[in-house]
Amino acid sequence: MRAGPTYHGHVSSDCLFCRIVAGELPSDQVHSEPGIIAFKDIHPVAETHILVVPEKHIEDLRQLQEEDAELWLRLAQVANEVAADLGHEQGYRFYVSVGPEGGQTVPHLHIHVLAGSMRRLPA
Ligand code: AMP
Ligand code: ZN
Repeated sequence: MRAGPTYHGHVSSDCLFCRIVAGELPSDQVHSEPGIIAFKDIHPVAETHILVVPEKHIEDLRQLQEEDAELWLRLAQVANEVAADLGHEQGYRFYVSVGPEGGQTVPHLHIHVLAGSMRRLPA
């Protein structure tokens, strides 16, 4: 019988991005710092398509708490830094899918950084 999810602090072994954060699954990282990693999206829809992901398992933007204020600011700063590091000083698209109806397919908060030639956003 399969056990329920095991939690290592706030990390769920059943969550794809928790497993990437934990190093259990590979990712093509472009940035890492305590509490946050950024890696290439496996199905890029733009020349640059990076996901900025908190280590903390927050299911979606609606679960953000007051205590996450500093983390949220830092996630946004990392998005800015990654875009600049990859040469997109002229700007980039920053978006977050929220819940299944918002197109969210991985229920662990992440920011999409899209830049360079890009396809239209998925409908
Ligand atoms: P969303 O649909 O907004 O929840 O974004 C989830 C994103 O994760 C999609 O753009 C997927 O292409 C991407 N993705 C899924 N699995 C992986 C993976 N193993 N490594 C990198 N990106 C992934
Ligand atoms: Zn998670």
